[in-house]
Amino acid sequence: MKCYVCENYLTKENETEEHILLNAIGGKLKSRALLCKDCNSKFGSKIDDKLAQQLNPIVNLLNVKRDRGKPQNIKGKYGNRDIIIEPNGNMKLARTYIDKGEKLAHIEASSLREATKALEGLKRAYPHLNIEEAIKNAKRSKDYLPYVTVNMNFGGKEIKQSICKMAVNFYIFQGGDPKIIKHLLPFIEGKKEDEEVYYFYPRSEVFYKGDKDIMHTLLLVGDPLKKQLYVYIELFNEFKMVVYLNREYDGEPINKSYHFNVVTNEIVQYDTTINIPPKHLRKYCSKELVETKFKERMMILLKKIDELTTSRRINEISTKAIEELQKKYPKEKNPVFTEEMSRFLSNRVSEEFVSSFQHSLFKREK
Ligand SMILES: [Zn+2]
Repeated sequence: MKCYVCENYLTKENETEEHILLNAIGGKLKSRALLCKDCNSKFGSKIDDKLAQQLNPIVNLLNVKRDRGKPQNIKGKYGNRDIIIEPNGNMKLARTYIDKGEKLAHIEASSLREATKALEGLKRAYPHLNIEEAIKNAKRSKDYLPYVTVNMNFGGKEIKQSICKMAVNFYIFQGGDPKIIKHLLPFIEGKKEDEEVYYFYPRSEVFYKGDKDIMHTLLLVGDPLKKQLYVYIELFNEFKMVVYLNREYDGEPINKSYHFNVVTNEIVQYDTTINIPPKHLRKYCSKELVETKFKERMMILLKKIDELTTSRRINEISTKAIEELQKKYPKEKNPVFTEEMSRFLSNRVSEEFVSSFQHSLFKREK
């Protein structure tokens, strides 16, 4: 086995693991038979990091399973308040907000501890301030949660480079000939401006997916009649891209696909081959990101994520509340389900329930 970039033989000393689908976005497909250590570092993680970073809001909202580390928090806005969204769907104020009026100060903080800190700060200026009293009168509120907005970017040269690398990796992984994709390497390395990497906006889905499926898909197609060799990529269903590997392809017909469901963490097999009509490839490929289409797709994806995380969260809330109930009222001592227990359970559930998952609008920023 040779490194497809420098063509040196891969040995125990110079081999390295290359993720074909980035692990940072939940990808599991990887290989030690693609690149040598040197070339892997030359290809750099910069472009992959950029892709992972742009997709992080989705990674976070889905709380995607990775080999190492949790998804990063994302930043949202509620009016002029900065909100932090954690991968488990929890949201909190990014910092403490203090509105100082003439006689009254209004403090918003993410916890009693933070609020106390803010009060202690205020006490230096207003020594008569009674911190204990203020904390006693503090109100717990989650009002702002349903209306948090999050910005999201997608696109740019580095994204196309990373997508191009993904396509090349998949082709070589499937036993492809490195000579056929050699012209793409300077683009991936950043030495060439442009290559045939397209955003793809088909009118309908390219293949069937269930309501609850959110997948990463790679499809490699070699068509000697049309002289095309391309890889079709879907990340989280809605980020659809096409990379032309070669326009003078005259090898064997190829149709290989890989699907990974990021919700169930499973590889999915399809019995039927996926075909994208060549007419659609011509018609729906775009060098530039089309903003209206991008927004439409994000709305579809977010709606799906919302449904998924809502049912996931409801499950967590009820399980947790029942556990707390059993701890507080052990079965041995409480053979009968009393009104007090019922009240405890419903209070616990309703308190937790107020958390929301609607990150209503994703905007794209230039
Ligand atoms: Zn190499």
